[in-house]
This record gives sequence, C-alpha cells and structure tokens, in this order.
Amino acid sequence: MLSQVIEVIENKNNFAITTHVRPDGDGIGSSLGLCLLLRSLGKNAEVILRDEIPESYKQLPGAEEVKKVGAVNGRYDAVFVIECSDIDRPGIGNLENQFVVNIDHHSTCEHFGNVNWIDATASAVGEMIYNLCKAIGGRVSKEIAECVYLALVTDTGSFHFPNTTERTLKVASELVKVGVEPAKISEAVYSSYSWSRIELMRRVISTIQRDPNGKVAWMRQSLADSEAAGAVDGDNNGLVNIPLSAKDIYGVVYMREVQPGTFRVSLRSKGNINIARVAEQFGGGGHKNAAGCRVSGDWDEIEKKLVSAMSDAVEKAEIEYDESERELLLA
Ligand code: AMP
Ligand code: MN
Repeated sequence: MLSQVIEVIENKNNFAITTHVRPDGDGIGSSLGLCLLLRSLGKNAEVILRDEIPESYKQLPGAEEVKKVGAVNGRYDAVFVIECSDIDRPGIGNLENQFVVNIDHHSTCEHFGNVNWIDATASAVGEMIYNLCKAIGGRVSKEIAECVYLALVTDTGSFHFPNTTERTLKVASELVKVGVEPAKISEAVYSSYSWSRIELMRRVISTIQRDPNGKVAWMRQSLADSEAAGAVDGDNNGLVNIPLSAKDIYGVVYMREVQPGTFRVSLRSKGNINIARVAEQFGGGGHKNAAGCRVSGDWDEIEKKLVSAMSDAVEKAEIEYDESERELLLA
C-alpha cells in the first residue's frame, strides 16, 4: 500500500524503475514521472526497459536517458515495477532477486512484489504517481506533470473511457495548472504518426467483420500485413478502438499474428460489459473494458471462440442490466 511505498522511498537511496514490454503511455509516463519525483527528493533513480520507447513518447522529459536492458545489472536498493500483471511482464532478467515495489491499477495484478500498491480505482498508474507525489510532500514540477498527464490521456482514451472519474479530471486540472499544455501532449500522441501506421490501418480495417446481431466486431493483422505496411512497434496502438466507434458495437476482438500461429489479442468493450473475465478464460487479463491475452493455434478456430465468448459477455451484461432494472422497479 501507499504508506509502505513512501517508507521504501524514505529509507532507501538507489532505485530503478521499469514497466511492461512494448510499453504504453501509462507505463512510460508513470515510470518517467516517478523517476523525476525520486530525483527531486535527492535519490538516485533510472528507468530501465527491455524495449525502445515508442516514437510519440520520446519528447517526454527524461525519455532520452532511459536504459535499454535485458537484465537488471546495477545495484539497486529497490526496483519499482509499474503496471505489470506479474514479474515476467517487464521482460527483464534477474528481477526476482531484487527488492521489488509493485505499483499497478489492475485488479487482476498478482501481488508479486515485496511491497505491493494496487489501486483499481485509479484511471492510470499516472494518477497513483500524482497521489504519491502529493503524499510524500514532493513538488509536482512541470516535467513530472507532463509525464503524468500523458499517462492519463493515453489510459483514458483522452478522457473518453469509463475509467475517467472526477478524481482523474481533478488531477488533470492540477497538472494543467502547473504548466502542462494539453494540446501539445495530444498532438505529440495523436497527430505524429508515421505513414506505416496508415498503411497498416488500411489493411487491418479491410478485415473487419461483425456478428449477425451487429454487436461484436473482429479484425485481424497478419504477419504479412505488418510486413507489407512496414509496421513498427506501436503502429497498431489504438486501432482496436476503430470498430468500437460504431454505435451498436459493444465488443471488439483484434488478433495480431506475432509469430506464425501465435497471436496477441486485444479485447475492448463499452459500458457494463466486463471482458477481463473473457481474457482470463484465455489465460490473459486486464480491465473491465480493455483486456488482452496471448494465444497459439488455428487462427479461425481461436477467433471463433473469442468472438463467441465476447458475444456471451455482451448478452450476459444485458441480462444483468435487465435484472438491476427490475430491482429498481421493485424498490
Ligand atoms: P492491449 O489490448 O494490449 O492494450 O491490452 C489491454 C489490457 O489488457 C492491458 O492494459 C493489460 O491489462 C491486459 N493484457 C493484455 N495482454 C495481456 C496478457 N497477455 N496477459 C495479461 N493481461 C494482458
Ligand atoms: Mn494503465
């Protein structure tokens, strides 16, 4: 919990911070924000990652200093692991021998750290880093604010998703107060894509299908598509939301072939449809409206199973909704 994290920071001096492989905006923004906070408190801190920082996040303060590593090499008093469901998600060796502080906002997160701070009510880990900064008596500098703001914007889909709460907007407002320019961050994230992303988008969109009820849509990205588009890591970020922008679509399945016969699956839903449970059925996890898993096997067969599980989740949510309505009527 938070008080233990503060204790670790106050009693130790040398820190590393890491997040999951193929880092997203929350992972990067929260890691860089925490690094700046620790340094402002007079501590030694560095961010270590397995993968490259995506192009659109490279302008964040401290991004140029991030170390790309295969294993933990330095001598650290503690390693902060940000936004990871388990100890393997960072893809970095030798982590199990470290004093690990696990910070996450997924309810499905394993308590793999020596200290675990999980706040499933936070819209992003960025929001937790902001709370930590306040709780430890740190100053929210413009640089820290930019990192945290990027985490909030990306994890809430620009404050569109249901994880956007009063607290999220209050934190965002505080960040703007100390100098964040929302338009500048949004432009860096959403209007600085490479053409390869557009090429990839064209191919992926052409595969979109929907079920007879018109409530669940699915689409695919083959290795051949990625190659033909010249796609690089991060080019598919956000594509999964395209079918969801249709009025009657409540669930999306997006399968990406990462090796022949092996797929990364992104699941998305709207409203009261919990698809973390669907992802868990396939060995993954995530949030109520955004989840994922990694699967291997026959593409058509797996796709069928995933679509069917998503359709079930959509139908079940409708039944639950009817029942709660009935309760309201009876009350
Ligand atoms: P993505 O579709 O890759 O953006 O993933 C959405 C969310 O699903 C992530 O924030 C994770 O919480 C979760 N997730 C994705 N892939 C996995 C996985 N292989 N194992 C566990 N959780 C996952
Ligand atoms: Mn997150």
